[in-house]
Amino acid sequence: MKQYDILIIGAGISGAVLAERYASIGKKVLIIEKRNHIAGNCFDYMDENGILVSKYGAHLFHTNDEEVWEYVNAFSDWYDWEHKVIARVDGKTVPIPVNITTVNTLFDEQIATESEMGAWLENNRINFEKPANGEEAVLNRVGIELYEKMFKHYTKKQWDKFPAELDASVLERIPVRQNYDDRYFSDKHQALPKGGYTQLFEKILSNPNIEIMLNTDFFDVKDELCSYEKLFYTGPVDRYFEFKHSLIEKLEYRSINFVSETHETEFFQENSVVNYPGTEVDFTRIIEYKHFGNQKSDKTTVVKEFTIDEGEPYYPVPNPRNQEIYALYKAEADKLTDVYFVGRLANYKYFNMDQAFKNALELFASLEQSAAALTSA
Ligand code: UDP
Repeated sequence: MKQYDILIIGAGISGAVLAERYASIGKKVLIIEKRNHIAGNCFDYMDENGILVSKYGAHLFHTNDEEVWEYVNAFSDWYDWEHKVIARVDGKTVPIPVNITTVNTLFDEQIATESEMGAWLENNRINFEKPANGEEAVLNRVGIELYEKMFKHYTKKQWDKFPAELDASVLERIPVRQNYDDRYFSDKHQALPKGGYTQLFEKILSNPNIEIMLNTDFFDVKDELCSYEKLFYTGPVDRYFEFKHSLIEKLEYRSINFVSETHETEFFQENSVVNYPGTEVDFTRIIEYKHFGNQKSDKTTVVKEFTIDEGEPYYPVPNPRNQEIYALYKAEADKLTDVYFVGRLANYKYFNMDQAFKNALELFASLEQSAAALTSA
């Protein structure tokens, strides 16, 4: 096999950014990717209905970080997309995150101002100084009724755990609003890449110093690889260490079963994402991709998301038990030289896309700084 300076396992956000950065300073980079495509879980493609769909669920880019925003803009044009989500609750349709409209619709209230909404929340919330888990986090913000209607069962479907069994941070990802703002995110930049994420990744990976081997499992070929300066691994951390700490207690991941349907109608639902937080259906949400970028087609593609235990790992499951197991792997990882664990699966952290970009950019910057310091010493 050819000689490379940098070996990267996985062509998702972390792998692609590191490849691009190292290629830009003249390093020869090899990416080994198990799947038959680049772009990791951001991968999208034109489906049989002529609609750009994401293979692994909708990816909504949002960031307050100017460096990340500038970086992604160097590889694609972006169009503004302020993502909104609605939920079907008790036969009604409401905005999520919870805002004034959500409360008025579900409880026949007549709240009109921020201070009235503040008072409603104050009356309903249950105070927890420092919420210890997801249940306390939600009760602390909105109280028991909204918890039951919008968070408890959705979370059980999503994680196969009730909010009390998860870190507070999981449920704190979604804000609660005291006004009418019905955007899912509050960040300054909220946008989607014109032409889609796969094209964005093609551009990021377009430097001739980068070679990509698709359909290749790193663990099948690792003994045949020549030496390299650095290895960046973006797969599941426990897989790297052959699950050695998982003989009794396995590190948990959630996977998603995406069930796609074509409907012979212009639109199936009024919004790109509709959540189903109740127990009446087993799926968590329905995505209708045609809404993103206002795409045109006679038909429409919708995807129902069922989360499952087995299958490709998408989400680490943030709670104290998994953190304990992860810490054992992390200690092993820290002992290695010139091997770096990057991204959601290798760090066992529920990163957003912009955090994944940020971490990869920062890792490159810090390694290059140390390298520069060594050469000048
Ligand atoms: N969540 C919920 N009800 C909803 C939406 C989200 O209970 O209608 C909870 C659920 O536990 C979920 C978490 O909030 O895992 C974070 O939601 P987010 O939309 O960030 O999840 P993602 O889009 O990453 O799957």
